[in-house]
Amino acid sequence: MIIVLKHDASPEQAEELRCWIRCHDLEVQTTRGENQTVLVVIGDADRLDEAYIEDMDIVEYVRAITQPYKLAGRNSPDDRSVIDVGGVKIGGGTFTMIAGPCSVESTEQITSIAREIKSAGAQLLRGGAFKPRTSPYSFQGMRADGLPHLIAAGREYGMPTVSEVTDKEQLPLFDKVDIIQVGARNMQNFELLKALGRLSKPILLKRGWANTVKELLTSAEYIMSGGNERVILCERGIRTFETATRNTLDLSAVAVIKDLSRLPVIVDPSHATGHAKYVEPMALAAAAAGADGLMIEVHDDPAQSKCDAAQAITPAQFASIAEKVNALRKAIFRI
Ligand code: PEP
Ligand code: MN
Repeated sequence: MIIVLKHDASPEQAEELRCWIRCHDLEVQTTRGENQTVLVVIGDADRLDEAYIEDMDIVEYVRAITQPYKLAGRNSPDDRSVIDVGGVKIGGGTFTMIAGPCSVESTEQITSIAREIKSAGAQLLRGGAFKPRTSPYSFQGMRADGLPHLIAAGREYGMPTVSEVTDKEQLPLFDKVDIIQVGARNMQNFELLKALGRLSKPILLKRGWANTVKELLTSAEYIMSGGNERVILCERGIRTFETATRNTLDLSAVAVIKDLSRLPVIVDPSHATGHAKYVEPMALAAAAAGADGLMIEVHDDPAQSKCDAAQAITPAQFASIAEKVNALRKAIFRI
């Protein structure tokens, strides 16, 4: 951390600040220029409250030198995490297609969707059992009863599974789920993130609709600093003034995350747009923007979907998207 003092800061005031910094078990170096004095804090400056220092009368401004996400950050151009989920590699130049219904509704439903998306090119099967719904009167998911159906369908068609946890008490139920999803509403549920940091399972961390990329990366850091470095990020749209779509897909976040972070980032065009007809164009745009994969809601009978029916696409539509994404990636990235 660098602290630039105001030109009228007296030597006594500067010394007082240096003493205060040393009290935090940190070292401080002083550089005196013609007009200004600069203090360089050496050590773990996270112990200091940046805003508190910035408000001091003698301080002009403060700059952090290190990023607050040391593990999620990228150290060199080739520093890219690759997460292996039962043989499916996510990140590092691969492209992963995750598909499945918003919620598991029955064993027949999830099994038939799994069969169809597998033959259309999906590598991972998603399905929510614990559904975080805005209204308590909406379908809450099959909850604990839904997970065995998802796991069985994934096994039958050779696809690792993804499902959302909404509370850390549920974690024992996720033993056989391959990737645990943290939904947008829980991106900053820090106790949940800490509990996931103690697992060795991959975590799909979705961006909150009112969270910055920096906050997403510091949430990833919560999981990683606990010892679990297998984090996959997901951009699923943020809330803006626009109402034509459910959220606004922030595709620039893909480019920013690829620049700042070593973690793979996948895009969810279903929750981002909220409308089945916009899923394909946004899926293609995400692939072109350099995303490491897509997560798409697919239902065999969208009209009957118990959750998020408007954004559900059919397996045939998914197959068409998968084909176009492959063609697009071949054309752009020569993959
Ligand atoms: C989901 O993926 O099922 C979901 C609820 O998404 P989000 O948390 O992004 O709203
Ligand atoms: Mn959904």
